[in-house]
Amino acid sequence: MTDPATGVRPPAVARRLPGRAKRRTDVLREYEKFNADRRKGLPPVLWPFLAPDPDRYYRWRVQLACACIIERVTPDDQTPPSERRWRGGDGEPLPVGQLYCWHDGSGDVPYRTIVGWRDRREIAFPADPVEAPEWAEAEVWAVIRHDDPHTSAFWRVTLDCGHVEEVQAPTLDWKPDDGPRLADTTRVREMTEEYERLWASDPTLQPPEREREHTRRTLAAGWPRPRPERLCHTCPHARRIVAYQGVGWLVPRDSKPQPEYQAQPSRVALERQLRRAEAEAEQLRVQLAQHYEREDA
Ligand SMILES: [Zn+2]
Ligand SMILES: [Zn+2]
Repeated sequence: MTDPATGVRPPAVARRLPGRAKRRTDVLREYEKFNADRRKGLPPVLWPFLAPDPDRYYRWRVQLACACIIERVTPDDQTPPSERRWRGGDGEPLPVGQLYCWHDGSGDVPYRTIVGWRDRREIAFPADPVEAPEWAEAEVWAVIRHDDPHTSAFWRVTLDCGHVEEVQAPTLDWKPDDGPRLADTTRVREMTEEYERLWASDPTLQPPEREREHTRRTLAAGWPRPRPERLCHTCPHARRIVAYQGVGWLVPRDSKPQPEYQAQPSRVALERQLRRAEAEAEQLRVQLAQHYEREDA
């Protein structure tokens, strides 16, 4: 809850949460199975970064604004889960203090204002079928269907809620600096009248309040393309972390077997190891660059 006097939300607190943590051995087994699968696709040189050993993880129980209590692990230190960035359902980082928890009854998908343009990608589409799909009237389909294969540009955008979505650009060469393209003012006036008449005439045709208000704002803004706002599919499931409880290391630190004597590798051996790691990393960079080139092509 936001404090009505200050507009500030209280920070997440560390406290004992109701219920019990899962059995450590179960969590460890689950992680090891997951990590083994993950390592299959990665060269060993990257394992410490992308698929670390379980002894680096600290366990937490986290209580969210949706009332769920879930478990998470964090690597290397005991920075509270409310001070980290977690990823949303689409893999994009969420604002600090939020965790993604998907369930039914999460409320409507809201419109949010676009506050930043990030990067773009192009997608090639085949020609649309001549036959109208189920969702379109034949006459409407005749107007909107693409007769030829075509390519569209899509931009990743940041919304004012801090989440990320993707929007289609009006044309392939459109850039954010160009600003939105507006429709002809006379046509916008006609459309406004048509919409209002339609909404007034047939209550059964009424779109949800959210869509009607969005259409009204779009018309008032001159029917811009791209639209200045976008539905945020992350908002309903991005939950504020309200409390957390440290559970302990995934592999207890005191019981971790320590080697009695570890021979120090020689300088030559270390240099050789480093060269090998660098060569392997370079090879990966080249492969990755080829991937980007293919994607760009
Ligand atoms: Zn939840
Ligand atoms: Zn959002």
